[in-house]
This record gives sequence, C-alpha cells and structure tokens, in this order.
Amino acid sequence: MTPTDSGGATRSFDLIVIGAGPAGAACARTAAKNGLKTALVDKKRFPRDKLCGGGLTGRAIGHHDRIFGKPLPDIPFERRDNFEFHAFGENLDTGSDSPPIHLAMRRDLDAWLLQQAISAGAEDFTGQPGTLDPDSPALDLPGLRLTAPLIVAADGVSSPTAKLLFGEAFDRDQIGFALEVERPGDASNVPLRIDFGAADWGYGWQFPKTCGTTIGVGGVMRRNADMKASLAGYLRTLGVTEELKIKGQFLPFGGFRETPGKGRVLLAGDAAGLVDPITGEGIAHALHSGELAALAVVEALHAQNPDTALSRYTAALRPIHSGLKQARLLRHVMFREALRPTFIRSFKRSRTLKREYLRLLAGQTEYDAIMKGMALRLPSFVWRALRGR
Ligand SMILES: Cc1cc2nc3c(=O)[nH]c(=O)nc-3n(C[C@H](O)[C@H](O)[C@H](O)COP(=O)(O)OP(=O)(O)OC[C@H]3O[C@@H](n4cnc5c(N)ncnc54)[C@H](O)[C@@H]3O)c2cc1C
Repeated sequence: MTPTDSGGATRSFDLIVIGAGPAGAACARTAAKNGLKTALVDKKRFPRDKLCGGGLTGRAIGHHDRIFGKPLPDIPFERRDNFEFHAFGENLDTGSDSPPIHLAMRRDLDAWLLQQAISAGAEDFTGQPGTLDPDSPALDLPGLRLTAPLIVAADGVSSPTAKLLFGEAFDRDQIGFALEVERPGDASNVPLRIDFGAADWGYGWQFPKTCGTTIGVGGVMRRNADMKASLAGYLRTLGVTEELKIKGQFLPFGGFRETPGKGRVLLAGDAAGLVDPITGEGIAHALHSGELAALAVVEALHAQNPDTALSRYTAALRPIHSGLKQARLLRHVMFREALRPTFIRSFKRSRTLKREYLRLLAGQTEYDAIMKGMALRLPSFVWRALRGR
C-alpha cells in the first residue's frame, strides 16, 4: 500500500470489478480463478435487494454451474417443472414439454454469488461507493485509491460508468421499464405463468417462490405511457385484489452497446444492455458476459497488451449480440398488431416452433431455430420490410 497525494493509500490490482451482481460476481470469480489479483467493489453491502423476478432459465443455470463450478445450493430456491404460457389473452398450451424454471430471491442469490467470488480470491470492497477515473484507470473509495490496468463495470442498468463514458447509461428510445409487487403467503399452488402482451411490447410474469409470489409487468418504455394501468390489469387477470407495494426499474431491452466499453474500461451485464428483448431474461447474459469480460482481461494481460482487452471482449460477445438482434427482429412479429395473429396461429399449431421456443428457454438452442420456423410462415416481403428496420 502506498500513500497518495491526498494522504489516502493506493492499492494496485490486475483488475477492478465495479458492481457485484451476477455479472460482477461471475467476472470477479473467473478472474480470481485465473490468477488475477482482483478487487470487487459494490456501493451496497450484501445481502441487498434487487428488483427482479428471479427467474433462472436452463441457460442461466448452465452458465452458473460452469462459472461457479457447482450447482446452486439450497438457498430458498424453487424448481418448477411446468408453466403456463399465455399470449394476448390466449393460453398457448406448452403441455408437459416445458423445461424447468428455477426461482430465487435476488437477495439470497446475489449474496451467494458474491461469496463464491470472494472465496475464489477476489478481494471484497462491497458497501463502499466509489468514483471512477477512467483515464488512469482507477477507482477512488473513501480514503483509498484502487488502481489496475483494466476495469470491468457491471454496475447495472443505470450504470454510472456507462454514463461517465458515453454521457448516458442507456438509449431512452429503446429502454424497457418494469413494475413489480411481492405478494406474501403460501405459493405452493400458484402456477408459474408468463403472459406476452400484458404490457405493450412486453409481458407479465407470476413467479411463485418459497416466501411468496413475485408478480410484474414490463415492456418498451416509450410504448407504455401508463405501466401502472398495465400492472393493475394484469393483477385483475390473476385475481389479485389486495393492495401491494409497487416498485419499478428500467430494463435494458435489447438496445445493447455494440462496443461494450471504452479504452481500458469494459461493461458487462445490464450495463452493456444485455437483456433479451422478448423474454426479459438478463441474469444468463449477465453471468456469461461477466465471464467473457474476465477471460478477455486474462488474455490481454498475458499478451502484455491491456489495450486489446476491449476488442477481445467485443469479439467474444458476438454470439450474444447476434441473438439479441434476432430477438429484436422477432419482437416485431410478436408484437406488431398486423403480424400478431400469424405469430399466435403459428405458435399454437406448430409443435416444432413450440418445442424450439421451450428449448430456447432451456438454453439448448438459440434464436436461429425460431427465426427459421417463423420464416416459413411469413411472406418474404414481410421479412424484407422487417430486416430493413
Ligand atoms: C422488474 C424486473 C424483473 C426482472 N426479472 C428477471 C427474471 O426473472 N430473470 C432474469 O433473468 N432477469 C430478470 N430481470 C433482469 C435482471 O434483473 C438483470 O438483467 C440482472 O440483474 C443484471 O445483472 P447485472 O449484474 O448486470 O446488474 P445488477 O444485478 O443490477 O447488479 C449491479 C450492481 O452494481 C452495483 N452498483 C451500481 N452502481 C454502483 C456504483 N456506482 N458503484 C459500485 N457499485 C454499483 C449495484 O449495487 C448492484 O449490486 C429483471 C429486471 C427487472 C427490472
């Protein structure tokens, strides 16, 4: 530790990770496991709440198990082997083919992820707000300056780092917004369900958990002037009549950053805009992008060229970006009023399309298969028009 001009101390690391949610924890754990001296910083002390449905698909579980080297433990955690899938008021009947969905409270899940990053060797700087100096790069904590050749910022959808680097954390034209309530009480008989169209260009969810039920609606913000009315309508559909506390947060709905960072600062998870614009799933891409950012840093440092980390990371993210682009295109088929009947009809009639969608949720396939299925059902001029968007 060395003293700074301001009288505080300086500590140097190979990597500083800002934000200890799924993306930051996955990044710090991967970096530490690969021998990097890693600092993990979060303004909050854990366990902390995070507004989220806490739904983990097979894709998220797969990334978790690989990155953390073990299955999720018995934190209050549910596995549901079937769910109801509705679109615009119609039950699309997924039958018994549906893959399991796992449900957790983020308070418990994120505390576990952080603990795994620390036990791999990352140094814990949670509970302290920091000020980033992107040029050094360095991060100033109260009385302590952290320096490192590279920084990964996984500081969420309202990322102060992205704001500092680009002037805004996200594109207001593309951003999503979601409202959620927690309904206490026994949820063992409550069905898990997802309802496309519960919000305009969005969906609703009812996720039963061990300590209650999380219910929410989310959609593209500029298309939902009155999200509270959508939530009220959805609660009526579910037969929920009691007063519940409503909380809201932005959802980076597919408007991802083509170059996820600047200079020696890389962005991961929501900070890089990596939420699926159809399913609203963000935990899987957060975990995966955190891991990929760490591996890019490891490679760049081994090559003794930290300036190459961002381009390595951008290349590694290409498959995720390509999936998000396809999902954005498919969203037009699902949510444009003129095309919606074709989507519902195709989905109800085609076992293949249904199976591919369920496999997508299970993390066994990507959007290509669904796009191919829909391509057979839409006239080519419609595809040309959509691709031009
Ligand atoms: C209502 C709602 C429901 C959702 N439901 C689901 C779901 O069911 N399944 C799913 O997969 N995804 C869901 N998502 C998306 C999911 O929550 C996110 O994609 C996911 O949390 C992204 O993880 P992350 O690590 O990138 O960011 P976060 O989980 O947001 O973590 C960011 C961390 O950065 C810290 N931080 C922020 N600013 C600073 C700072 N200046 N300095 C230090 N630390 C800072 C925060 O304290 C936080 O701990 C939902 C989102 C919303 C809003």
